[in-house]
Amino acid sequence: MIRLTLPAASDAEAPYVARLNTGRGGVEEADAALVDEDAEGVTYLGRHGVLAIDGASATELDGDVVIVDPVGGRAERILRRGSGHNTLLVTERCDQLCLMCSQPPKKTHVDRFALFEQACLLAESDSLIGISGGEPTLYKDDLLGMLERVLAERPDLEFHVLTNGQFFDDDDVARLRDERYARVSWGIPIYAADAALHDRIVGKDGAFSRLEKSMAVLARAGARIELRTVLVADNADALTRLARYVAKRLRFIEVWSIMQLENIGFARARWASLFVEHARDFGPIGDAIDHAALHGIRAQLFNFPRCTVPEPWRDLARASISDWKRRYADACAPCRERDACSGFFEWHPIQQAEDGVTPL
Ligand code: SF4
Repeated sequence: MIRLTLPAASDAEAPYVARLNTGRGGVEEADAALVDEDAEGVTYLGRHGVLAIDGASATELDGDVVIVDPVGGRAERILRRGSGHNTLLVTERCDQLCLMCSQPPKKTHVDRFALFEQACLLAESDSLIGISGGEPTLYKDDLLGMLERVLAERPDLEFHVLTNGQFFDDDDVARLRDERYARVSWGIPIYAADAALHDRIVGKDGAFSRLEKSMAVLARAGARIELRTVLVADNADALTRLARYVAKRLRFIEVWSIMQLENIGFARARWASLFVEHARDFGPIGDAIDHAALHGIRAQLFNFPRCTVPEPWRDLARASISDWKRRYADACAPCRERDACSGFFEWHPIQQAEDGVTPL
């Protein structure tokens, strides 16, 4: 697993952003330039003074944009050079409490929008940057302000924001019609067409109806939407009905992602009661995808190892798991489709992974 947070020492008094530079090209003002490397780690010098990072080489860190927390003694690799899986966790607070949440919410919020903005301005050319939480739109004005300023200065960047769609209002329509939002897509979860079932899965009364209101706002704004449905035992049999709802009411979305469960957070403790063995019965998933396709809705599968998906739908299975938390079973070694395959989450039950694969 790639470590995103590393032990670090710095004499600075407050958190700051730096881009690590081993000497590639010229050193810019925001860069911390390499001055030493040994078996323990790497030392840099920049406008915030000396920065020592342990546990990685200069080659691994070259070009990464980090947030350094001098008091906490760590450096977070916020934007890793060459990775297509950089995501900013802008808050750990959330108004929902989903049954299978992979990142259980916390009550406190640390406002780091200013640091994230500085980091984004240093991003590699043509990057797609993810925004996640918690629920990012709990801080909607801060979030939108950051997106707008960054996109104004960096027309090469794009953002993908994961949001539960509980906070968009009519007042947002004009703002979201700004041309900069053509470079923002919104990943929004819906778990069932039945309001009571959706509300139960997300742990919030009225969530479905509030989601419908937000979807209407986003539709009027011409927003780009990736609809997301995590598969759990509770909604597996309701997937076809959800497909009918999506085809009828949400035809303006760009794509519908059906996602297999991640064995972490709340889902880990509830794994036995939540996980759906799709390889044993792909029927409801296949039916939902086919119904959506018939009505012009493009569906895709996230976190489904390709060999576990029947051939007619296999090409919809994307290599969706972020590089830093993706692994493959030993049995995957001879597989020719490994590069196109999601593999497994680092924390997926090992035996389940080994037993479940059939190299292609
Ligand atoms: S054998 Fe492994 S790499 Fe190949 S499709 Fe299956 S899970 Fe993916």
